[in-house]
Amino acid sequence: MNIQVLKNIFQRNDNAARENRELLDSTGVTCINLLGGAGAGKTALLEAVIPTLTDSLRVAVLEGDLATTKDAARIDALGVPVVQLLTDGGCHLTATLVQQGLQRLPLDQVDLLFIENVGNPICPANFDLGEHLRISVLSVTEGDDKPAKYPLLFKDVPLIVLTKCDLQPLTDFDFDTVTRDLRRISPEADILQTQARKGIGIDSLSTWLRTRKLRGSPYPVGGRQHEG
Ligand code: MG
Ligand code: ZN
Repeated sequence: MNIQVLKNIFQRNDNAARENRELLDSTGVTCINLLGGAGAGKTALLEAVIPTLTDSLRVAVLEGDLATTKDAARIDALGVPVVQLLTDGGCHLTATLVQQGLQRLPLDQVDLLFIENVGNPICPANFDLGEHLRISVLSVTEGDDKPAKYPLLFKDVPLIVLTKCDLQPLTDFDFDTVTRDLRRISPEADILQTQARKGIGIDSLSTWLRTRKLRGSPYPVGGRQHEG
């Protein structure tokens, strides 16, 4: 009986995810689901990279949290459209909640949509939101054992961003261990080292986002070609 209930939840989520993807495709929006534990530095990464993109890409954000609009306020300060999605205690975003968020965004005026998932290294990875790709975030303060302990978080992602790398000397974090474990989990993934507060590695992330090819078609470098 429990198994049947879980199946229904995933089925309903997958249906909403498919609808989200169709809506995003029809409006020309590329959508990235940002995954990582609480305190990994997902919001700080968005704060650092979004200003490097907005000269030529129209960016929007869906912010997932259990409570408060703290992260949405930080994104709002960048001057890009943002909607705070509150799970009311739930530990992951669902495609249904994202669907409601999409209805509040001016999608015809968006090229790139980030969804910042709830800070949680476990179940967000199980829920397709309708995104086109995922980026996983790991801070050195979380520890170098996390890829091995939470492999699903890093599986089948094209990019893994290591954050707070300046704090490494204060920790036991070993880049070689993490790189080896990440290579085992996601052999094709790019791995970037960043330090968002000082802007280190942010140019590389910006370039990665601009040049990433999706579904065989070029990423909208330089904004939409059909405008004007
Ligand atoms: Mg956040
Ligand atoms: Zn959950």
